[in-house]
Amino acid sequence: MSELQKPVQSLPGVGTKRAEQLLKLGIESVADLLYHFPRAYQNRGKILSLAEGAMTGQVCATVLTVGSTVSAVRLSGGRTLFRFSAFDNTGKCIISFFNQNYLRDVFIQGSTFRFYGKIERKGRSFAMTAPAFEPWSETVQPPEFYPIYPLTAGLTQKNLQNIIGTLLMRLTPDSVTDPIPEDIRKKYSLPELSAAFGAIHMPSNYAELDTARSRFAFEELFLYSLGMGMLGKRRRLPCDLQFGKTDLTDFFSQIPFALTDAQKKTVNDIYIDMTRKETPMARLVSGDVGSGKTICAAAACAIALKNGYQCALMVPTEILANQHYHDLEPLFKNLGFSVKLLTGSLSAAEKRKVRLDAASGKADLVIGTHALITDATTFSKLGLVITDEQHRFGVAQRQALAEKGKRIHTLVMTATPIPRTLAHILYGDLDVSTIDTLPPGRQVVDTFAVNESYRARLNGFIRKQVEKGHQVYIVCPAVEQAEEDLAENGETISLDYRPGKEVSPAIPMQAAVDYAKALQNEVFPDLAIGILHGKMKAKDKDTVMADFVAGKIQILVSTTVIEVGVNVPNATLMVIENADRFGLAQLHQLRGRVGRGSAKSYCVMVSEAKKGSDAEARLNMLCKSRNGYEIATFDLQLRGPGDFFPTGEEARQSGEFSFRYAGLANDASLAENAAKEAKALLESDPSLCSPKHIHLSLAIERFFKLTENVVN
Ligand code: ADP
Ligand code: MG
Repeated sequence: MSELQKPVQSLPGVGTKRAEQLLKLGIESVADLLYHFPRAYQNRGKILSLAEGAMTGQVCATVLTVGSTVSAVRLSGGRTLFRFSAFDNTGKCIISFFNQNYLRDVFIQGSTFRFYGKIERKGRSFAMTAPAFEPWSETVQPPEFYPIYPLTAGLTQKNLQNIIGTLLMRLTPDSVTDPIPEDIRKKYSLPELSAAFGAIHMPSNYAELDTARSRFAFEELFLYSLGMGMLGKRRRLPCDLQFGKTDLTDFFSQIPFALTDAQKKTVNDIYIDMTRKETPMARLVSGDVGSGKTICAAAACAIALKNGYQCALMVPTEILANQHYHDLEPLFKNLGFSVKLLTGSLSAAEKRKVRLDAASGKADLVIGTHALITDATTFSKLGLVITDEQHRFGVAQRQALAEKGKRIHTLVMTATPIPRTLAHILYGDLDVSTIDTLPPGRQVVDTFAVNESYRARLNGFIRKQVEKGHQVYIVCPAVEQAEEDLAENGETISLDYRPGKEVSPAIPMQAAVDYAKALQNEVFPDLAIGILHGKMKAKDKDTVMADFVAGKIQILVSTTVIEVGVNVPNATLMVIENADRFGLAQLHQLRGRVGRGSAKSYCVMVSEAKKGSDAEARLNMLCKSRNGYEIATFDLQLRGPGDFFPTGEEARQSGEFSFRYAGLANDASLAENAAKEAKALLESDPSLCSPKHIHLSLAIERFFKLTENVVN
């Protein structure tokens, strides 16, 4: 057994109790521990003087010389305060610690330390309370970066830093087997695994960290592509469906508009897939919001129904299920087919009835939420499964669906405008049709980037829209709970580790709620304001969304969880707070929520993006362009593929793969190369069963297990 597969208990200093704590983080093996990457780094390398540090008001590093002996003051409650002064050439600082007697011997007068903490100005001198510290000299300098790990109860940063630090010291290129084959590693100049582990956990500079990140990004995309490629191979089983030439004239005569060329091409792809004999269809339809994917899905249904097969259409939310039912039921009824709705909120008796109809073949098309893929739902002659808003489903749900669809046609639709190369990576097991044009006559959503100085005018504009009888979305970026907790514990973290990159802080979830309350109480007391965020129960979310659809809510304050694909044509204004925190693709998606009716619509992005910054360039790009693919490509060049791999709240909500490093790689060609190499490798060894690929198989298994952990 290799070092990596051993359980964590095999490490010095890890007993049963530690092992239990680590298990809570999904860490069982030594490999799990090594792949437990820091979520951020404290940079103690940027040294500020006392005066500079006090000005920033932030936690920072400063180098001071001890100028006095340590004095002890007994406090009530048995605590002891230890105090001494230290200085640099901008002033004197009083440093206090509690109850740490040994510090008297550490801070010897005349010795120099690097302190890391918050510097406060106290009259003419400065003060720091319980800062972190390391001895400092011209010759021996402590590391600049300190890893910040995701934690669990009972486990501190120091604990993890020690366990991982000790492990790293024992690591050699021979003790860990690199899953990336050596020739591929060399071809792309990727660092070898043990060195990369060292650099990702304890980098000594930005360049080293960047190189390690690129390596793990490559590894991640490589393993992902291999895994998906293998899944795809397994899925393409021979097909025993009996589909023949199908006349769709009566179907199209029901449609009140002419299809765009892109739609025609997509329907044609689908028709060919479904009527060929060898393998069932496995196709992704990727098209911008509003590009008209539904009609392509409906055409696929028509083909299946006319050949005597049943269809299942799965959507991520009840609202969307209702919407599709509303649109498709009359259409298929006219053609003589029966459409049923199956959602979680039906009564048990109603569900049983729909399931009976599906099992007996009485229902031709069943539209539903994930209630549709549970084992309780069976079909007498299922020929096609469609998933709408594919990116919102979890891995487990997709797998269940793939199981059901092993020998039948599957069609998935996504509104994430993915450039072709990336679609190929994300959905390596699927053929792709792209709808890259919008139907004619679509109105342009006027888009503006503004700063805080426009607040009063913006509020006036919101009111004006509501007075015209329209509705407004306000989206705030909210952070995850874990980040909030850390902030409360005084750990200030910069997630954006790149120097010179400035983004607005995320708003804590509670702040988004408070913001909605303040808006209600202070700005719009007479209007109906609703709030929607990730921590709400699914049922409550659906209620709020339904109220918005029904027009009972005039202003909807929301985190990014607002329902994808939902059509509220009466909403004419999208306000996005801290817009610089969002990726362009996401901003474009959000903007797609408005401009769906006949009334003129607007998108206002509020941010403090500085003149000449990347953030400003990105927002300006969005003001100019309406084309999702153009925007996605621009974003890809500027940021790397991060936007297409949701992270944070969005990832947890949607259950989407949460890539750790792929998003941070600043080189889009990295993703393409990883996919290319994976494909080539699978051609030479399709199930990776050659002995030299054993470690690769293990790594893929671990990678997908890990991903499930992140998701659940
Ligand atoms: P999405 O791709 O976001 O799912 P939909 O399928 O919901 O988009 O279509 C958005 C709107 O555009 C719908 O109201 C639909 O009826 C309309 N639509 C779709 N295709 C066309 C077309 N070729 N011409 C005119 N309107 C269309
Ligand atoms: Mg849609």
